[in-house]
Amino acid sequence: LKGYWYNRKVFTALEPLSFELKAYKTLAIVGEIGSGKSTLAKLLVGAETPNTGTIKLNGQTLEPKNFKQRCQHIRMIFQDSGTTLNPSLTIHQLLDEPLKLNTELNEVARSQLIRMTLQKVGLLPDHMNFYPHMFSGGQKQRISLARAIILQPQVIILDEALASLDPSLRSQMINLLLDLQQQMGLAFILISHNLGIVRHFSDDMMVLCSGKVVEYGPTHQIMQQPKHRYTQKLMMSQH
Ligand code: ATP
Ligand code: MG
Repeated sequence: LKGYWYNRKVFTALEPLSFELKAYKTLAIVGEIGSGKSTLAKLLVGAETPNTGTIKLNGQTLEPKNFKQRCQHIRMIFQDSGTTLNPSLTIHQLLDEPLKLNTELNEVARSQLIRMTLQKVGLLPDHMNFYPHMFSGGQKQRISLARAIILQPQVIILDEALASLDPSLRSQMINLLLDLQQQMGLAFILISHNLGIVRHFSDDMMVLCSGKVVEYGPTHQIMQQPKHRYTQKLMMSQH
């Protein structure tokens, strides 16, 4: 349960919920502005802690303090990930950071992994010595994706990660993500306002309304026959 203080009262941003993530599959989370999607994402990566309750992954409680363990399982990229890359670090340094923090690998092994990861996201080995400002918006998003996959997590959360890309870059990014999903067996959590992307990209979907799950199931089924009034309204608003 996650609450926030507002006007000296606590309101509930997220009620208890559970869902299944499957390797190679994508769960979409949709819902109006302020429905609790990013709160859920932040709880999962450990950027926020629940006021009450625990978070379990594969039946195991994720300790709020144990960031190291969590980072290896779950990583997140968001809309502005590309623009928040530290401008004073080279791409090599940016990718080396999570490795230094979370692994015992030596410098040679880390460099090799960095090279391989850049290749996976379609960047060149030469890019290692460049700084973030030398890249386009789409390339910066790829650098944050490289940072997200370098620890070989099981889950990647995409919080509106495609929202600021123009349509052609967006479809390139979707293809890249789907490729990586197949290669690495990733489970994606796709948070998006774009029902077209949700339809195309996700296997299951969960609809949040004021911090509560109002619908959860296979995407095609919910898209065809939304049961809840709120979901029906949401679908109508994008047709
Ligand atoms: P959007 O579609 O706009 O990204 P969202 O579904 O991601 O919305 P959240 O960011 O999870 O929504 O916010 C859920 C609710 O919690 C909102 O009412 C928001 O104002 C509130 N909230 C989020 N973060 C905080 C915070 N740090 N302090 C207080 N209230 C917060
Ligand atoms: Mg959000």
